[in-house]
Amino acid sequence: MNHVNSKSLFDAAQKVIPGGVNSPVRAFRSVGGNPLFFKGGEGAYLIDADDNRYVDYVGAWGPLILGHGSPLVVDALRKQLDQGIGYGASTEAEINIATKIVDIVPSIEKVRLTTSGTEATMSAIRVARGYTGRDAIVKFEGCYHGHADGLLVKAGSGALTLGEPDSLGVPKAYTNLTHVLPYNDAQAVEDFFSKHGDTIACLIVEPIAGNMNLVPPVPGFLETLREVCDKHGTVLIFDEVMTGFRVARGGAQEVYGVTPDMTCLGKVIGGGLPVGAFGGRTDIMNMIAPLGAVYQAGTLSGSPLAVAAGICMLDAISQPGFYEDLGARAEKLMTGLKSRAAKAGIPFTTNQVGGMFGCFFSEEDTVTTFSQVMACNSDHFQRYFHLMLDGGVYLAPSAFEAGFISIVHGEAELAATLAAAENAFTALAS
Ligand SMILES: *Cc1c(COP(=O)(O)O)cnc(C)c1O
Repeated sequence: MNHVNSKSLFDAAQKVIPGGVNSPVRAFRSVGGNPLFFKGGEGAYLIDADDNRYVDYVGAWGPLILGHGSPLVVDALRKQLDQGIGYGASTEAEINIATKIVDIVPSIEKVRLTTSGTEATMSAIRVARGYTGRDAIVKFEGCYHGHADGLLVKAGSGALTLGEPDSLGVPKAYTNLTHVLPYNDAQAVEDFFSKHGDTIACLIVEPIAGNMNLVPPVPGFLETLREVCDKHGTVLIFDEVMTGFRVARGGAQEVYGVTPDMTCLGKVIGGGLPVGAFGGRTDIMNMIAPLGAVYQAGTLSGSPLAVAAGICMLDAISQPGFYEDLGARAEKLMTGLKSRAAKAGIPFTTNQVGGMFGCFFSEEDTVTTFSQVMACNSDHFQRYFHLMLDGGVYLAPSAFEAGFISIVHGEAELAATLAAAENAFTALAS
């Protein structure tokens, strides 16, 4: 497979863009080689600058649950374009999307739109601090909540990929207020809260961790978070930027039946455009300006284009059977990958919830902790990544990212992926 054009674009990009990329996870640092440049996306496929086609399992890092260039989303955007791009003032469409979010996610009574997931988590935490009058927060190791200062502590995703869980430029005074606990360890949470619970403004968690590869919560973990937060007057924030509308229509909170006080959203609700949202209980959300004294704002928040795409997305995923269908495709892929790895004698296991999955080169049957993720065979992953790329399959260029499937990944794409994987596993074994 020829990557000449991608290579020269990368050379040019590096001269004017730090590292040649506008977000570090796009670089191929952890897998080696040069990142690809893309010029198109069609349904389940990405087309790179050298006209190579790949079955895509990144989906723009989650949003493209309807596939690339979904005619539904494109039509909605065209209709809005005819009426203007943005007004910096209120629109009826904002009420429509807020109403849909409130209907779909029962724990959200009021919601505010932002332009990114980072803004959503940052703002939710500020509101929780304002509401409780407390400063300290709790997060979990390997969970990524965007790149706000106080959250870049033992964060996953690109921060893990680069081996820099903490960032330069983040004042120690900020991160002193962030306590980090091990994910899926209910006992550690109980112990911590029994000592410090009454000083904690909020506990923020990815209810399914998707930035240290994919690690679902073990039974009882989310329930424990709910209990300790209730006991200590701490605001429980589910960061569903990745899992919202991705693992089920109502997100991880619907799957596990645990109700947070606040929820952060992003990715899927934008349909591929820049959108985030945070919402929750009315008494908490009413703390925000102009009603309350917690300031939060955004020039492009509620952008009519993003809202148009979002509404169309929420309608599409509300079709009966959407998530059963999506989940069945992902499950079929995981079963197929595991059987091919087993046949080749490669230690390999998977996690999957709805339209999200994780693949692990691990000796263990199930992966439920950050340390198990870190113990996976990174050499196998690197080689597998490039073998799959050569086989026409685009995976996230890091072992710490979840995989995403879309509703237009059909039989042909799954078969092509499994054929590429069979070759890759065989090559790894030899
Ligand atoms: C992607 C992500 C974010 C950050 O969203 P951006 O739009 O990249 O700022 C926050 N939380 C989680 C769980 C995410 O997956």
